[in-house]
Amino acid sequence: MIKINAYTFRCSSCGTKNRIPHEKAGQTAKCGKCGSAMDTSALLVDRTVVIEDRNFNRNILESPLPVLLDCWAPWCGPCKMIGPILEELAMEWRGRIRIGKLNVDENPATANKFEIRSIPTLMVFDHGKRVDTLVGALPKGQIVEAMAAFL
Ligand SMILES: [Zn+2]
Repeated sequence: MIKINAYTFRCSSCGTKNRIPHEKAGQTAKCGKCGSAMDTSALLVDRTVVIEDRNFNRNILESPLPVLLDCWAPWCGPCKMIGPILEELAMEWRGRIRIGKLNVDENPATANKFEIRSIPTLMVFDHGKRVDTLVGALPKGQIVEAMAAFL
């Protein structure tokens, strides 16, 4: 595992990236630009986060970290293959990338908005925008490669 000295954390109020020293992760920090209080507990999350239509904006578009969002369904075989890989990555990428899981059957509004045609589909979001889309049950190495810019 890579030793991290500091994290990059985006202020939800003004969007500015702030540097959070490793030992301050999880504490409340103050945005260097706008002065807003930032709850940095997201830096300590080491598992996937359940995303729903109703919390999509807050957890994805306003995320302090870049996001990899897995669009999946319980009946999908290939989704079951990458599920454990994403849990592993959530641990390895703690403090750097948030990994979300969106059940497309239960959250049709988001699935329709982003025109999810097949699952699994992995969407990459940064600063409120979708920046990449990966379709299919990719091997772990390929997912890591696709996210290299954020690591
Ligand atoms: Zn700010």
